[in-house]
Amino acid sequence: MTTLLPTTTAGSLPKPSWLAEPETLWSPWKLDGDALAAGKRDALRLALDDQRRAGIDIVGDGEQTRQHFVTTFVEHLDGVDFEKRATVRIRNRYDASVPTVAGLVSRSKPVFVEDARYLRAQTDAPIKWTLPGPMTMIDTLYDAHYRSREKLAWEFARILNQEARELEAAGVDIIQFDEPAFNVFFDEANDWGIATLEKAAEGLTAETAVHICYGYGIKANTDWKNSLGSEWRQYEQTFPNLQRSTIDIISLECQNSRVPMDLIELVRGKKVMVGAIDVASNIVETPEQVAATLCQALDFVDADKLYPATNCGMAPLRRDIAQGKLMALAAGAAIVRAELFS
Ligand SMILES: [Zn+2]
Repeated sequence: MTTLLPTTTAGSLPKPSWLAEPETLWSPWKLDGDALAAGKRDALRLALDDQRRAGIDIVGDGEQTRQHFVTTFVEHLDGVDFEKRATVRIRNRYDASVPTVAGLVSRSKPVFVEDARYLRAQTDAPIKWTLPGPMTMIDTLYDAHYRSREKLAWEFARILNQEARELEAAGVDIIQFDEPAFNVFFDEANDWGIATLEKAAEGLTAETAVHICYGYGIKANTDWKNSLGSEWRQYEQTFPNLQRSTIDIISLECQNSRVPMDLIELVRGKKVMVGAIDVASNIVETPEQVAATLCQALDFVDADKLYPATNCGMAPLRRDIAQGKLMALAAGAAIVRAELFS
């Protein structure tokens, strides 16, 4: 990146009301067949245009091609039975009906590569593509085959690496793995979670990012956050190992979170996507609020390694609010850029 403080999003943006139910997370598609395929592409171009108009530097597809950040990827794999559902506790927080791993998992065809190629053809800006991380994938499934979280995570890491290499070949500049599970299962993250993530990123020349947030602004997550006390020190558990990892960029939740900013010192040397937009609030940040968060982070991240971003995805927000937040992000970054050059 040549721009100082390049802005980006964690990934998802709201979908148009003709594609999926607005303000609803994981809403089912309103179209099917060819109409759905065309609708996703139209929505991708709108999401890209929204980012361009706001002045976002590193753009994505707004996850218009995905219903759910994990299951849409898993749907394309062999070995997972979507008819056979089981109820599991997601990230120790809420129960969900999930598909069952019923046999050897494999990827017989690319999942998002065509979508990424389509995005690449629409813009000259750097593009980022999001994939689920291995540990978050296993936490969103019932495993009736491997009977080992670690074993299944290594299998998914191998599959993610196949997909990531093809995304890179399709022209993706940054491949981001979403690993909110790192904020919950510290021992597993340190024992094998970070290692499986590195496996997923192995051999890539594209930059790699890991997004570790406190989740979308849904009630289960908000209740959990309220139970975490006055200081959120979850990042402290995994940061030393992430600092030593091969992953280039770490994406964090900083706006309105109770994460002590000085924890970022533990990943000094890495690029950091600093979340300066709260996705759990309908109040649009002012550019000054965004700038204040970025300035606090600058004590612990070198300016050439700071990427202003959103805390998490904005899929459940109203479109006009999400757009306002994108604009505030870009305007806030511009304030800090001007200060750094003055
Ligand atoms: Zn997130």
